[in-house]
Amino acid sequence: MKKTVREKLIAYFMGVAKKNKFLKYPSIAALSVTLFFYYVGRHFVTNGKRYASMIFVGIFFVGSCSFSFAVFAERTGFTSVQETYSAVVGTSDISLAAVAPVAPETEVLLKEEKGESDRGDTDETQVEAYTLDDILAYHGHESAHDEDAAEAAGTEAVATVEEVEEWNFDASDWRLVLINKQHPIPDGYDFKLGSFASGMRCDERVIEDLLLMMQAAKKDGFNLVVISPYRTSDHQEDNFNNKIRKYMRTGLSYMEAYKVTSQVVTVPGCSEHEVGLALDITSETYLDLERGFADTKEGQWLADHSYEYGFIVRYPEEKEYITSIIYEPWHFRYVGREAASVMKEENLCLEEFWDKYL
Ligand SMILES: [Zn+2]
Repeated sequence: MKKTVREKLIAYFMGVAKKNKFLKYPSIAALSVTLFFYYVGRHFVTNGKRYASMIFVGIFFVGSCSFSFAVFAERTGFTSVQETYSAVVGTSDISLAAVAPVAPETEVLLKEEKGESDRGDTDETQVEAYTLDDILAYHGHESAHDEDAAEAAGTEAVATVEEVEEWNFDASDWRLVLINKQHPIPDGYDFKLGSFASGMRCDERVIEDLLLMMQAAKKDGFNLVVISPYRTSDHQEDNFNNKIRKYMRTGLSYMEAYKVTSQVVTVPGCSEHEVGLALDITSETYLDLERGFADTKEGQWLADHSYEYGFIVRYPEEKEYITSIIYEPWHFRYVGREAASVMKEENLCLEEFWDKYL
């Protein structure tokens, strides 16, 4: 009768053990290990089809998942960005291309790009800044207009947390809409844009509080400047796709270009600027959208008082691990006075506020 592989293996190792008694235990050990691998191998061979179909299902699932693209890009390691914190945390503002943390290779690309922008080939990094006077002039007012109203608004604005406890926040409130990488702009989200200076638009319901805040700041001696309010989704998308093409022309693959682009431009559909609820605000003496703005008197004033007018620092320091966006002391989001008071009082970012109250 023909011996099975198993019997042959046993016979071989027993033979070795008999010939030399010192090899008795090593032979038994070797036999066990060999048989183990023999059975494991045989299991995979006989179940080959089953495993193959499982692998195909897995590939199909991962491939069709909307998050896979970025994940693949992250893993390929082509930019040699280690999976560091700074590589994962982005910025929400297009104009920050040069500030965003990037790998050395991409820095070269970004520098080239910045050079081009400086020459005015593209309009995306062009800074348009508007002071309170510009804005009031646009509305046909004198700069002193409504100062009393600003004062009144400033004093009435703050509510204590005890009062707040009784407020019921509503998840469908337009002021509280949550927009981030995990929560794109909701389908059918509707809003009306209003102009507050020539070419400067935001959600029209925000303008009144914005003006009151700027007037109050001015009264305290600070000239705030609005830099980048509403951006259209088309603009954001064009911007995104243009950058991808640009990087591809330098020899990067689509995946590589996507990865580099997503580090410097907010993925379209995930920016609060696209719904007119975000404003980048700095001062006349510090126009850059940089961390250093937090240390200016104007930055400090905004951090202390913006909530009185319904605005929050949307991406606070030490909340990067929640927001996935670097600290942006200039990026203000309108959430309404009640919610802003709660967030300020309890040191919550918008994501945390949602967890707790909505
Ligand atoms: Zn911004």
